[in-house]
Amino acid sequence: MRRPDWPLLAERAAALLYPRRCPFCGAVLGPDVRQGNLCPDCRKEESRLAHEPPRLPGTEHTFYALSGALAAYYYSGAVREAILLCKRGGRPWYARELADCMAVRIWGAVPAQRPGERPANELFRAMPLYHCIVPVPPHQTWAGVPGLPLLLARRLGILFQIPVVQGLRTARGTTQQKALTRAERAQNARRAYAARPGLDLGGKRVLLVDDVITTGATVSACALALLGAGAVDVTAAAVAVSEELPKEKRPFREKEQ
Ligand SMILES: [Zn+2]
Repeated sequence: MRRPDWPLLAERAAALLYPRRCPFCGAVLGPDVRQGNLCPDCRKEESRLAHEPPRLPGTEHTFYALSGALAAYYYSGAVREAILLCKRGGRPWYARELADCMAVRIWGAVPAQRPGERPANELFRAMPLYHCIVPVPPHQTWAGVPGLPLLLARRLGILFQIPVVQGLRTARGTTQQKALTRAERAQNARRAYAARPGLDLGGKRVLLVDDVITTGATVSACALALLGAGAVDVTAAAVAVSEELPKEKRPFREKEQ
């Protein structure tokens, strides 16, 4: 007999109390339509903002210590709003939907067929790409609410059935990245993250998860710390990346004259 899938049962029970909502507009997802984890109205906007392919170009970011960086979307429009609602809009549960979108957009999982179901990726289960998931640690957390990277990591851990390791910490006395220039960010980030004492990632391939990748300084510094703890390979993945939208994806296409 198969063992009951407790996290899935808990999810279903929670879905009865707190219906799943489209992360881009907040609409309740119907119980029966085959709409996956976003509402039909947001489909077009979701595909407009998709980062295709998900691999980020090294030319626009400063990556080191990483074997690759991936993002599902451009940090713009509805995606940006959904991320901000998760982070400080009091709707942390949108993180589950955003993580599901990452699984579909980045790793080609088959979208959930109904609310309450999970995206599935048989290939991934047969041959795991990573041994564990490490979230980028937050600089500050609101009382009791885990940071968005941790929420995303937990959901991806459930989807891919690999453990989440909170292996990084922020070093004291570092400034928040967004107040700094690009060069300052790289300098500041290099010493801003450290592996937790005793962390042993010997021989492991690690998926590092963040909400938004901007310059690449944060994920690179985290990767460096993870390599220092024995990881053999670190790949970063985020919901979105701050890159200029390609012309064809801009909302109002400029007229060519
Ligand atoms: Zn929607």
